Amino acid sequence: MTQEVPPHAPAGEPARGTGAPSVPARPAGQAVPAAASGTAVAPGTPAEEPGVKLSGAGLAGSGAAAEEADVVVVGAGPAGSATAFYLARAGLDVLLLDKATFPREKVCGDGLTPRAVKALAGMEVATDERDGWLPNKGLRIIGGGVRLELRWPELSSYPGYGLVRTRLGFDETLARTAEKAGVRLLEGVNVTGPVLDDAGRIIGVTTGTNTDAERNYLARLVVAADGNSSRLSLAMGLRKRDDRPLGVAVRTYYASPRHDDDYLESWLELWDRDRLLTGYGWIFGMGDGTSNVGLGLLNTSAAFQNIDYRSLLRRWLAGMPAEWGFTEENRTQPVRGAALPMGFNRTPHYTRGLLLVGDAGGMVNPFNGEGIAYAMESGEIAARVITQALAQPDPRSAESVLASYPQMLKDAYGGYYTLGRKFVEAIGNPRLMQFATRHGMPRPALMRVIMKLLANLTEPKGGDAADRVINALSRMTPAA
Ligand SMILES: Cc1cc2nc3c(=O)[nH]c(=O)nc-3n(C[C@H](O)[C@H](O)[C@H](O)COP(=O)(O)OP(=O)(O)OC[C@H]3O[C@@H](n4cnc5c(N)ncnc54)[C@H](O)[C@@H]3O)c2cc1C
Repeated sequence: MTQEVPPHAPAGEPARGTGAPSVPARPAGQAVPAAASGTAVAPGTPAEEPGVKLSGAGLAGSGAAAEEADVVVVGAGPAGSATAFYLARAGLDVLLLDKATFPREKVCGDGLTPRAVKALAGMEVATDERDGWLPNKGLRIIGGGVRLELRWPELSSYPGYGLVRTRLGFDETLARTAEKAGVRLLEGVNVTGPVLDDAGRIIGVTTGTNTDAERNYLARLVVAADGNSSRLSLAMGLRKRDDRPLGVAVRTYYASPRHDDDYLESWLELWDRDRLLTGYGWIFGMGDGTSNVGLGLLNTSAAFQNIDYRSLLRRWLAGMPAEWGFTEENRTQPVRGAALPMGFNRTPHYTRGLLLVGDAGGMVNPFNGEGIAYAMESGEIAARVITQALAQPDPRSAESVLASYPQMLKDAYGGYYTLGRKFVEAIGNPRLMQFATRHGMPRPALMRVIMKLLANLTEPKGGDAADRVINALSRMTPAA
């Protein structure tokens, strides 16, 4: 096979392979869906994304080393580890690449609802308290002068408890679980861009830069699980959508007597002495002597662009009881922030050999900012689709299976996320938010229904009246 690109193409230009399929062969009857004509083409073209430095050197003949697998998954956060785990369980050869080495930190609230606990059970992850998992009974909501403790709903489809675990331990546990299932996890591998065939279809990824030793990882399909920024999606022309919600949040840890709280605590209003600040806050006890404390804003809020989040956090915490210990002396970590991409804020979720999972596909729940469960669930859905696609007898039928992935996501979350977008627009108006808080909070029965809605915790079939109303609303609302 010859290589047609110069060893160092301009930065921003994806590495290209030759026209011949360069993906590893499968046993007879399992054809590779590479470079198929009629392939769905993304709205964007392979991007020239500033800051993404791509090597021009490609496949064999360029001197670049290449490793092959059925599927390459880029990013070993919850989305990537779950995807890789389910693919390996289905018997596929999977390379899971992460630029970090585990354990590594990830800016997060570290809170897990019963939805995430269910996703953990799906991967058969043991959640023993001795290993740092702290169970919780429900959600404590504070707002409108009311403090309300709501237990997680009793449902046959979800466990009745949530958990807390630092992402340091959580993400490593998931990555190692995937590894034990047969996934080849490679740490410290910074993916710099896609390797494309002549039809513009992704057939692998490269770590090539002008400074690094270059290596290509080739596969029949590639999964972008590289988080909110998803440079891989960008390089394939998939940008964030301006018409979808985005949150920004900051968090840190304090040594605090509140560390062994058995409820997740959510603040619907942030007070700076007698002034109401826009945003929401949380205090999650970690069970290890510290509390994860943070706050966030949505892009529907007027203050979103021009606010100093760290100062906002300081001002909010200044009003907390002194005995909780949320002071500078007790702070054990730096204040760090990151974005929460919500309600499908990057689409389409499949294009030209690339599937998007988790934050890369903007799958954070707009109602409550929960992203871990959706990252893991979308990973499982993507793995199911990939497994079926790679078992098809010809590229065309494989492609039509792959094209069903966005629809499967819409079926799972589309209507609910559309409702979530309306909710985010509404609460961007602080007066409306205050009105809803003042009138909703004193009514526990109503708040129990709202909690089910916000946490997306209903029986899929049957259930009580609240379940049926929420499910009907989600089904009736157009998925977009
Ligand atoms: C402040 C804050 C608080 C939050 N609190 C919660 C919460 O309490 N509960 C909850 O459920 N969700 C919460 N979220 C959301 C949650 O953190 C995300 O939704 C979740 O981490 C998404 O998982 P992921 O696997 O898609 O992406 P990530 O967790 O971001 O993982 C992406 C992985 O890709 C790797 N990667 C990136 N680029 C490359 C590259 N070029 N090459 C190789 N590897 C790469 C990264 O190293 C990383 O390991 C919070 C988010 C923020 C910002």
